[in-house]
Amino acid sequence: MKPLVAIVGRPNVGKSTLFNRLVGKRLALVEDMPGVTRDRHYADAQWEGRTFTFIDTGGFVPGEEDTLLQQVREQAQLAVEECDVTIFVVDAREGLTPADEAVAKYLRKSGKPVVVAANKLDNTSGTMQALAAEFYKFGLGEVQAMSAEHGLGVSGLFDEVVAKLPPKEEDEDAEAPPDDGIVRVAIIGRPNVGKSTLVNAILKEKRVVASEVPGTTRDPVDSPLTYKDQKLILTDTAGIRRKKTIAHRVEQYSVISALKTMERSDVAVLLMDATEPAVDQDAKLAGLAEERGRALVIVINKWDLIGVDQRRQETYRESLKYALKFVGYAPILFTSALTGSKVEKVVDVAVELAKQFRFRAPTPQLNRLLEHMVDNHPAPIVRGKPLRLYYITQVAAAPPTFALTCNHPDGVPDMYKRYITNQLRKTFDLRVPIRLVFRERP
Ligand code: GDP
Ligand code: GDP
Repeated sequence: MKPLVAIVGRPNVGKSTLFNRLVGKRLALVEDMPGVTRDRHYADAQWEGRTFTFIDTGGFVPGEEDTLLQQVREQAQLAVEECDVTIFVVDAREGLTPADEAVAKYLRKSGKPVVVAANKLDNTSGTMQALAAEFYKFGLGEVQAMSAEHGLGVSGLFDEVVAKLPPKEEDEDAEAPPDDGIVRVAIIGRPNVGKSTLVNAILKEKRVVASEVPGTTRDPVDSPLTYKDQKLILTDTAGIRRKKTIAHRVEQYSVISALKTMERSDVAVLLMDATEPAVDQDAKLAGLAEERGRALVIVINKWDLIGVDQRRQETYRESLKYALKFVGYAPILFTSALTGSKVEKVVDVAVELAKQFRFRAPTPQLNRLLEHMVDNHPAPIVRGKPLRLYYITQVAAAPPTFALTCNHPDGVPDMYKRYITNQLRKTFDLRVPIRLVFRERP
């Protein structure tokens, strides 16, 4: 799992500007994901052979109703509890304020690695640099003078961050969990939708045998089990949250826990409450799964409170498909964790999706499909020339990733990408995220 780097600081010091500067290039790649990426507060970046995930905690702690001190304190707590390194941004033109002091005090006490970013130093003259020196008073170590707006000092900041990251783990750069035959399932969702109840209901199923999985942590949130001869590990993200000291503001924490857990999982089971229509937070979690390329099952829980009417399920399914268009491939199930209704089905579908997640297509069959696609739906004209797709291979699994060789790798219209993706889904029955890469003919 990639290390997490938090950005904290009071409002208007330049956190979002810095965040966008740090991850700017990556963000553009996912722009065409409607609805989800508008307010992104986390993204990956690479530096000196390390990959890490930045989190703008300012975006995670909205707190309009809170005082400034409460807000920054919560950001700092979130950073310290969930992240490996904290970037503490201050406005060097304005100088040190009481709110800064409060954050500094908290960070100091935590003993966790911190880099102080003295921002808004837009020119490199000596007097500007001198302004940064004031922040050594925090006693948090090195202060990096910088300008997020003008991109000054950013590489120095990256260096500082990388120097403070925990030692690189062997599987840190792995894009997916190990392919060891164990299906890892993350149970995610807003607080109180029934995650823990679902995990307990699954564990009570007659066909489930609690199992020892060698090499797994004995963390109470991980439940190893065997079901129809398949080994699984269910991770209850609600359990992670409950272990934490702060119960307050659980929604933000659940997003970060979900992010962390999902990275270690093949399949995300996104639980929603049938009595509350899909909300922003649900869409965020679904978007996270798509973005991290994890298989996704959407589970509408507490269906016992709605009734048995089949037509209501269909209506519900339709409106949900519309609200969560960007994960239209994800199966939708209706359960009652409380009565145990359909909980076995959740496991069946998760196991099936885990297989699809690791699927590998034979190259000849892929190329027959490509021919067929181009015949049925000729590739469009790009910059005055017809787009030519020469061949296709699968270059990775988990999630299935296909490379297409063509004459205009940058010019393939989104419509045509969607067409190809849909044909791949249909042909190979893939209800998991699919990635396409376009390459020039060598
Ligand atoms: P946040 O509330 O901490 O996320 O702060 P923002 O990133 O929204 O920035 C607040 C304001 O400060 C915006 O008007 C930015 O354009 C401005 N700002 C951010 N970084 C710099 C900088 O390096 N130099 C200057 N002069 N302004 C900056
Ligand atoms: P979590 O925070 O997502 O882990 O949610 P919990 O599992 O703690 O459940 C929250 C509340 O919802 C508890 O009071 C559960 O009994 C209740 N609950 C969970 N699943 C169902 C369900 O399928 N039907 C009904 N009626 N209540 C449920």
